Amino acid sequence: MQQLNPINYQIHLEPDLTRFNFEGKCEILLDAPENISEVTLNVLEIAIWSCRLQQGDGFVNCPFRVDPAGEEVRVMLPKPMSGNIRLKIDYLGWINDKMAGFYRSKYTYQGNTRFIAVTQFEESDARRAFPCMDHPAKKATFDITIDIDHNLVAISNGAIKKEARLSNGKKRITFEQTPIMSTYLVFFGVGEFEFSEDLKDSRVRVATLPGMKEFAKFGAEFGRKSLEFSENYYAIAYPLPKMDLIAIPDFAFGAMENWGAITFRENLLLHYPEITSKFGEERICEVIAHEIAHQWFGNLVTPSDWRYLWLNESFATYFGFGVVDHYYPRWATWQQFLSGQTGSALVRDALHETFAIEIPGGEHVVINASTAPIIYNKGGSILRQIEGYIGKENFQKGVQHYLKTYEYGCAASHHLWQSFETVAQQPIAAMMKSWIEQRGFPIITVKRQDRRLVMTQKRFTYLPNDSDQKWQVPINICLFPKTGAMRRMTTLLDDIEQVIDLDEDILAYKINDRQTGFYRVKYNDVKNLDELGKRVLEKSLPPEDRWGLENDLFALVQSGETSLEEYLKFISCYQEEDAYLPLTGMASNLYSAFLVMGDDWQQKISSIARPRFEDILEKIGYSPVPDENLTTSLLRDQIIWDAVLYGSSSALEFAGKQFAALMQGGSVHADIIKSVMRVGALSGNDKTFDWFDRQLQKSKVEHERLNILSALGCFKDESAIKKSQQYTLDTVPARNKFMPVVAMAANPYAIPLLWDWYVNNLEAIEQFHPMLYERVIAAIVPTAGISRADEVKTFFADYLKNTDKAKDVIKLSLERLEINLRMRRAG
Ligand SMILES: [Zn+2]
Repeated sequence: MQQLNPINYQIHLEPDLTRFNFEGKCEILLDAPENISEVTLNVLEIAIWSCRLQQGDGFVNCPFRVDPAGEEVRVMLPKPMSGNIRLKIDYLGWINDKMAGFYRSKYTYQGNTRFIAVTQFEESDARRAFPCMDHPAKKATFDITIDIDHNLVAISNGAIKKEARLSNGKKRITFEQTPIMSTYLVFFGVGEFEFSEDLKDSRVRVATLPGMKEFAKFGAEFGRKSLEFSENYYAIAYPLPKMDLIAIPDFAFGAMENWGAITFRENLLLHYPEITSKFGEERICEVIAHEIAHQWFGNLVTPSDWRYLWLNESFATYFGFGVVDHYYPRWATWQQFLSGQTGSALVRDALHETFAIEIPGGEHVVINASTAPIIYNKGGSILRQIEGYIGKENFQKGVQHYLKTYEYGCAASHHLWQSFETVAQQPIAAMMKSWIEQRGFPIITVKRQDRRLVMTQKRFTYLPNDSDQKWQVPINICLFPKTGAMRRMTTLLDDIEQVIDLDEDILAYKINDRQTGFYRVKYNDVKNLDELGKRVLEKSLPPEDRWGLENDLFALVQSGETSLEEYLKFISCYQEEDAYLPLTGMASNLYSAFLVMGDDWQQKISSIARPRFEDILEKIGYSPVPDENLTTSLLRDQIIWDAVLYGSSSALEFAGKQFAALMQGGSVHADIIKSVMRVGALSGNDKTFDWFDRQLQKSKVEHERLNILSALGCFKDESAIKKSQQYTLDTVPARNKFMPVVAMAANPYAIPLLWDWYVNNLEAIEQFHPMLYERVIAAIVPTAGISRADEVKTFFADYLKNTDKAKDVIKLSLERLEINLRMRRAG
C-alpha cells in the first residue's frame, strides 16, 4: 500500500436521472509522509477529464494514466513532493443498473415508471462514483455537495448544511462534513424521498418513496429502540445528528450500514399492516438492529483490512439478535439464532471447502453465499461462545473497552482479544485464535469408562478428513445423578484427548449445555444416549439441548457415522415434543433427508412425519390464534407445506380451501399466506400461474411479492414449472431472480427440471447479480445434481477451465452434492 493518506474529500456531483450519468468533481487532500512522484487512486468505469494539482493559489494540470484492469489511475506529479497534496479531478460517471456504485433503482408511482439514484459501495465500489483510496483503513472526512432538480431530495451521510437555488433552476445541497470514515460507508442518494421522523427521537428518520410513508412508523420506532440500546450498551454516543433509514426498491443485499444513511430492501424496513407476517416483523427488527450495531462495529471502529471483516459482521449479527431479544423476549430470538445462525454455520463449516472466520485474501474479499455463513453466522456464534465463557458482564466491558480504544480508527482481531483479556483477566487470545484463524470446528467424541469420561476432539467434516487440527474448546457439561438435582461443570478441552473423573452416582451426561459451544458431539455410549432419550421424551432437558441432540445426530447421518435408521429411531423420543426449536430442527432435517433419499425412504419419512405434523397442527391450530407466540406461527408455516408434501389430506384440505378463497378475492392471514400460496401452487396449473403473475404485477408491497415468488417455485404441474422458469428469466426483477429458483431446488417435482433449465439458459443466468447467480448455483447443484451427478461434475470441471465466476460456490455446491450422494447410497 502507498505511504499516502487521504485527509479530506470534497465531492461535487451533478446527477442526471434521464441520461443516467453524472458530472463529478473530486478534490482530495492527501498527506504524503515521504517524497512521492505520483499518486495512485482507485477508479472504475468513470471517464476522467482532468487531474490538477494545487500549487500556491492555483492549480496545474498533471498527466495521468488509467489502468482499467487494475481499477486505478496514476497521477504524475510535476516533481517529487511530500506533506499536503491537493488534487482536483473532473470526471463523468454512470448511474448504472448493476446495483453497485452509484446506481439507479426503478419504481412505479401513479402508473409511471420513475427512478432514484443511490449508492452501494461495500466492499470496493466507491471507486465507481469518485476517485479515491478505496481501502477501509484509508479513512478521511467527506464534504459532499449535490446539484439536483428542485422537485427532488438528496440524502447523504451528514445532515444538510445549506440549500441554495442555482441560476439553471436546480438547487445545490451541501451536507455537513462527515466524521473520519472509510470510503465504503459513504452514501448519496437522489429521488422523490419523503421523511417520517420518529416521534420520540427526532434523530431517527425513515425515508420512503411517494405513497409509502404510512408504512414507515414501525421501522422508525425500532430504529429508535436500537439506537437507545446501542448507546447504553456500548457507552459511546452516536456521533451524527441524524440517522436515516432509507427504503430502496432495487437492492442486491438486505441492507447496508452507510454511516447515518442506512439503506434497506423495502420489505426489511417497511411494515404493512395485515400483510407483513410476524416473522417479517421480527426480520425488520433484526435487520435494523444489525445495521445500527454497525454504526459502532465498522463505522466507528473499522477493520484495518478486509480480512477482519468478521469484526463488523459477527458483532452486527450477534447484536441483531441481542437487541431484538432485549425488547421482545417473548419472541425467543436466541432460539431462532441457534437454528438459523449456529445451525446453518455448523452445516456450512463442515465442508472441506471452507474458510477461517478471518478470511485469508486480498483486496477483493467478497460477501457471498460461500463467505457469509462463516463471517456472519459462525462469527456471531463464536461471540456467543465467548460470552458464555467470560460471562455477560465481562463481555460487555470488553466490547466497551474495544470500541473506546479504537474509535475513529481501525482494529484487527488481536485488538479485540486484548480488550477481552484486559477486562476478564483470563487468557482469551490463544483460545480465540484457534476459532478465528483456522477453518472448521471439532466434533467431541465422548465415551465412559467406569467413573471416567474420555473426550477426544477431531475436525468434523461430512466427507472424511485426516486433519490433526486442535481447538481450545470450552465445554459445559450437565451431569444427571441417579437421585437429586442436575449438576453442571465446565472444562477447557485444549488437547486432543482429556479425561474427567465422574462421581459414582452419575447416571447420564449431556455435553454442550444449552448449545453455547460451536461443535458437534458424538456419544460413543449407547446407555447414555438412551438415558438422554428418556429426558427428551419427558422434556426435562431444555429445548436447546433437545435440539442439539437431534441436530448432531443428523449431522452424523450425513457424515456416514450413523445410519438414517438410527436417527429415525432416536427421534421417536420426540413424540411428545411441543417446543419450537427441536421441532423446527427435526422438520428441516427430515425434509433434507426426504429430498436426498430414494422412494422407499421417502415413504418411510412421510409415514413418520405426516401423523406427527398433523398432530402438531391439530394442537396449535391450522389457523393463527390471536396473541400466539411468534415461534408457533413460524412452526405452523413451515410444517403445513411439509405435511402436504408427505401426503396429509387434512393439511391439503385446509390450505387448499384458503387458497381457493384467496383466488376469489378473499384474504388469508399474513402468518400462513406463504404456505397457503405454496400449497396452492403445488395443486395448481397454468391458470394458477397466470393468477400469480397478475398478483405480482398488481402488488405494491415487496413482502407480498416475495411470497408469490417463493410460491412460483412450488408447482407440481410440469407446464407451470416451465412457465415459472421462463418467467424468472423474463419478468422477475433482477434483485429477486434467485427466489423462485431456491424454492424449486427444494421442490421434489421441480428438481428434475432444474439442471436442463440452468444449462440451456446459462448465458442469461450468468447475467444475474454475481451474488444472486451464486445463490442459484448453491441451490440447484446439491439436489438437482443427485440424479445426474456425472453430467454436473463434468460440466463444472469444464466451466471452471474458462472462468473463475462463482468458483468458491461451485466447489462447495459440488461437495454438498457428494455428501448427498453418499447419504443416498448408504441408505
Ligand atoms: Zn452487516
